[in-house]
Amino acid sequence: MSTQTTTPAEKDRPEAIIIGSGTGVPSKRRVCPAILVRAEGEIMLLDTGPGTLATLLHQGVTYTDIDRIFYTHMHPDHCADMTSILFAMRNVEPRRTKPLHVYGPQGLKGFYHDLNRVYGNCLTPKTYELNLTELREDELSLGGWRVKTSAMNHMVPTIGYRLEFSNGKVLVYSGDTGYCENIVGLARDADVLVLECSFPEDLRVEGHLVPSMCARIALESGCKTLVLSHFYPQWEAYDILEECRKFYDGGLVLAEDSTKLPL
Ligand SMILES: [Zn+2]
Ligand SMILES: [Zn+2]
Repeated sequence: MSTQTTTPAEKDRPEAIIIGSGTGVPSKRRVCPAILVRAEGEIMLLDTGPGTLATLLHQGVTYTDIDRIFYTHMHPDHCADMTSILFAMRNVEPRRTKPLHVYGPQGLKGFYHDLNRVYGNCLTPKTYELNLTELREDELSLGGWRVKTSAMNHMVPTIGYRLEFSNGKVLVYSGDTGYCENIVGLARDADVLVLECSFPEDLRVEGHLVPSMCARIALESGCKTLVLSHFYPQWEAYDILEECRKFYDGGLVLAEDSTKLPL
């Protein structure tokens, strides 16, 4: 067995790690949605479902480390741990000092305002700066890299994210969505496309994807690697790979909690 050595270039290489490949339904195998991204010298999160902050400890990440959080939508399975994260950042020693940038769909600021009202301001930052940004069809230039967003097809305002890193690699994340042209456009030629694949083909639910739709998005966008996540427990009666291979024979990863996606 060879010992693995990491060169400096590999160490700085962007990487996404699936923190939770599940949904809001309790599962011993899959926790709620969150993706950790280490890139551009920053620690970023895409969604923070319940339990994210504690689960991140297994990746060596805690509340003092997080630079940016990108929310797709404000359903609890995707955003409930915003409360735990802001609570820790305000109240726990050692105190957080660096700014936190939080992005989300229309309604993010109202959501934050309401959380503060409900919790009697025990989430309001004291020792660091919190920047909230609402996005729709947007493009942000963040130094040497960029973020693009587009509206998805879900029951509440939802945006998908396209992260274009300075090394030329592209990561796209749908959050929750049904099939729509916007996700195809957002995912154009992406290196890694993370799509929700909530249900098997015959249990399709409006506003969510099934394997044939994920395959269609992957084929139409020309993504290099398709990553499927957000599996409801209904999937446990199926062979997910077999179901997906009926529609797609390209690069495919079925997410588990802790799946690493090099970029
Ligand atoms: Zn949702
Ligand atoms: Zn969801």
